[in-house]
Amino acid sequence: MRTALYPGTFDPVTHGHTDIVDRALAMFDRLIVAVANNTSKSTTFSVQQRLELLKAVIGDKPEIEIVEFNGLTAHYAKERDVAAIIRGLRAVSDFEYEFQMALMNRRLVPEVETVFLMPRGKYAYLSSTLIKDVARFGGEVDLFVGEPVAKMLREKLKNEE
Ligand code: ADP
Repeated sequence: MRTALYPGTFDPVTHGHTDIVDRALAMFDRLIVAVANNTSKSTTFSVQQRLELLKAVIGDKPEIEIVEFNGLTAHYAKERDVAAIIRGLRAVSDFEYEFQMALMNRRLVPEVETVFLMPRGKYAYLSSTLIKDVARFGGEVDLFVGEPVAKMLREKLKNEE
């Protein structure tokens, strides 16, 4: 059984993230989608909401576990004894940071490889931040996120008004 870990903030999950989940599952037997709890980023959605949205969008699949984690990705990868860490690469702009992080993680846990996957072209420009901006200014986000995410974005915005 080969298990991979897909860590991220998922604030909120987009079709770009789920595209990467599908690709990772084609390569590994099991996938742990792990929501960073104590991230230095301030998030729009709580960790419970981010988990709830991932579960709603991905559904119940025996080969996928959706969890939260604290601390370093490398430490969590070791604790869960995974073969690989999955990261998505959108554009060249992602590369520098992701490359640094992959090399740092290799220093911390040499036995875990980082695997970079590219989403299909139409999702290559999607980011959670961009989607929140579109939603905030009244744009349609239904093409980029699942229905439960679009609904929660609308509710969140109503509360911001
Ligand atoms: P993080 O804060 O860890 O970067 P994100 O939730 O923004 O968390 O992203 C998690 C992972 O998913 C990262 O590897 C990121 O590059 C990737 N990702 C985000 N959006 C997309 C997308 N549209 N296509 C492919 N990969 C993506």
